[in-house]
Amino acid sequence: DGDLRVRGISSAIRVVPNFPKPGIMFQDITTLLLDPKAFRDAIDIFVDRYKDKEISVVAGIEARGFLFGPPIALAIGAKFVPMRKPRKLPGEVIAEEYVLEYGKDRLEMHVGAVQPGERALIVDDLIATGGTLCAAIKLLERAGAEVVECACVIELPELKGRGKLDGKALYILVESR
Ligand code: AMP
Repeated sequence: DGDLRVRGISSAIRVVPNFPKPGIMFQDITTLLLDPKAFRDAIDIFVDRYKDKEISVVAGIEARGFLFGPPIALAIGAKFVPMRKPRKLPGEVIAEEYVLEYGKDRLEMHVGAVQPGERALIVDDLIATGGTLCAAIKLLERAGAEVVECACVIELPELKGRGKLDGKALYILVESR
């Protein structure tokens, strides 16, 4: 039953108050990874949703999108493309900057990893303000891909990140605060 699985996933996520700084309720998915049933349920729910959507590329966002993206990509027969923090990828890259609470960050993707016309799914653990996913959408669209949907395990709905996704669909497993 889908609802039971989602409840198991939700209770396997540990919430750590005031990490990494005061006022942040950190959603710790490492405890989900420690629970093979809940971890598998999370991957299975995503795979069921995306297996028949002709997705050719799963783009995972560093670092926790690297934990959920590859098992989904393998199960649906898509390639996996890492969207990385600056200066990690050795080849030629395209980059998008995005604004953080304090300062800026940047996501990079290898040129040639994605071809024009490909259908892409973006995967991360969590959407907060939506800035990170927005940068990932821009990178894929610059490469000529169509972003079919963004998928996260957790949404922090109070931050209204959903509205930053340029009309792209967002699918989540659990809401938190
Ligand atoms: P944002 O760009 O604001 O949507 O932030 C999303 C990114 O920051 C994701 O890659 C998350 O892993 C991380 N993140 C932001 N807020 C939290 C939180 N409360 N708990 C865990 N991760 C978070």
